[in-house]
Amino acid sequence: MKTRLIFLYIVAIILSIIILVLAVKSSNKIEVEKKEGEEINFESSKNIKLLRSENGQIEEVNLNYYLLCTVASEIPFKYEYEAIKAQVVVARTYLFNKIVNNLEECGDVCDDYRHCQAFTDIDKLYEIWKNKGFSEQEIEEGVNKIKRAIVDTEDEIITYKGEIINALFHASSPRKTEDAKAIWSNADIPYLKSVDNIEDEDYENRETILEISYDKFKSELVNNGYIDDLSKDEFLNTNINDYTQSGRVNSVNIGKYCIKAENLRTIFNIKSTDFTINFNDENTIVFDVLGFGHGVGMSQVGANTYARRGKKYDEIIHHYYTDVDIVDEN
Ligand SMILES: [Zn+2]
Repeated sequence: MKTRLIFLYIVAIILSIIILVLAVKSSNKIEVEKKEGEEINFESSKNIKLLRSENGQIEEVNLNYYLLCTVASEIPFKYEYEAIKAQVVVARTYLFNKIVNNLEECGDVCDDYRHCQAFTDIDKLYEIWKNKGFSEQEIEEGVNKIKRAIVDTEDEIITYKGEIINALFHASSPRKTEDAKAIWSNADIPYLKSVDNIEDEDYENRETILEISYDKFKSELVNNGYIDDLSKDEFLNTNINDYTQSGRVNSVNIGKYCIKAENLRTIFNIKSTDFTINFNDENTIVFDVLGFGHGVGMSQVGANTYARRGKKYDEIIHHYYTDVDIVDEN
C-alpha cells in the first residue's frame, strides 16, 4: 500500500514537471509567433543627421531607420538572432559615440563604410538581396528580424566606466581578436583587448589567397610613399619582421624598409593581417590570409558562432569588449 502511494506520488510529480515544461515551451512559441505576425512599432522618437557621401548633403533620418539600414548592410540577415541583436547594440553604440563626442565634421554620422559604418538604404538592399537570389519571404523575414532586434534592445548602448565606448567590430578573426594598440599604436583602449575567439568554418572568407605581381607591389608601395624603389631581389626577400601578441603580422621587411602590416592590408586590400608570405614564381608574391578585417572588437562570424552555441547577445558583447556595461542611454 505504502509503495503504491509512493509510486503514485512519483507519477504525479513527473506529470506536473511534463505539464510545466510544455506550458513554458508553448508560451515561448506563442510569444514568437505573436511577434512575427504583429506589425513592429519600429519608429524611434529621435532623428539623426546622416551625411550622404554621394551628394555631400545632410539628411535627417529616423534613428531606428539608420540602425536598420546599417545593421542590414553590415551583417547577413541570416545570422542568428542573438548575433544580430549584438550587432544592433554595437551599431547604436558606434553611432552615439560619434554624436556624444562630436567626432564627425558634418552631421552625426556618414554613410561611408571606410569612415563610419556601412549604410545602404533598405530599398536598395532589397534589390541587392533579390539579385543575390533571396526570395521575398526570406528578405521580409530578415528585415523583420533586424527590426525586432532594434526594438528588443531599444536604447541599449555599451559603456566602459560610465563612458560610451568606441564599439569597433570586424567580420572574422578565427584565432583571436586583436588589441587596438597593436593596430593603432596611439590607441591603448582598455576595453579593446585581444580575446580568444571561436568561429565556425563555414564562413566564405575564412581563408583567402591574394596574389600580387612584382610590378603592382612595387608601384603601389611607391605611389603610397612607403618606399622609393624595390629591386627584384629585394622583392623576393620580402618577409615577416614580427608578430603582434595575438599572432597576427605586425610588420613586414620590404627591401630596406619595414612596413606595418596594417598599412599593407589597407593598400592591397589584404583581408586581414593574419597572413603568411610565399612566392609563386619570381614575379608573384602570395598572401595566405586567415579572417577578414582589422580584428579589433566584436567578430561578427564569432558572434554568430557563439549565438549558435546558445550565448545571448549580452554575453557576446561582454566577451568581445573587456569589462564593459550595457546600459540604457536615457
Ligand atoms: Zn563618417
